[in-house]
Amino acid sequence: MTEQNLTKNQDLVLNQLGKSKTPMSAYDLLDKLREKGLKAPLQIYRALDKLTEMGLAHRLESLNAFVACAHPNCHENELIAFGICENCNKVWEFSDEEVSKRLDLWAKERDFTPIKTSLEIRGICAKCA
Ligand SMILES: [Zn+2]
Ligand SMILES: [Zn+2]
Repeated sequence: MTEQNLTKNQDLVLNQLGKSKTPMSAYDLLDKLREKGLKAPLQIYRALDKLTEMGLAHRLESLNAFVACAHPNCHENELIAFGICENCNKVWEFSDEEVSKRLDLWAKERDFTPIKTSLEIRGICAKCA
């Protein structure tokens, strides 16, 4: 993984997210990183804020949890979508130009200025079906 000037805390949080196979909440992260010196929720939140801002991690709104970006630094699309298995919690990150275009059009037609779009599909993956 190539990191761009991450602080120690950001680095610890990102590594932990990268190791996890399922999304982690701030408190999951705090639990795991306590022994590494991150003792305050605020430290975790600050690191998560920065990481999501940089596009290295994403927040799953419907779970209030975080995942490491599946393909850092290659978001050509503003819109990132997630498929989330409700059984095993596995997350698929993807983007789709057609969906993105449709949503842009919807907004344009209504003079609506989007600030943040989140698209999460919750369901059951092939393995769990
Ligand atoms: Zn991503
Ligand atoms: Zn599953």
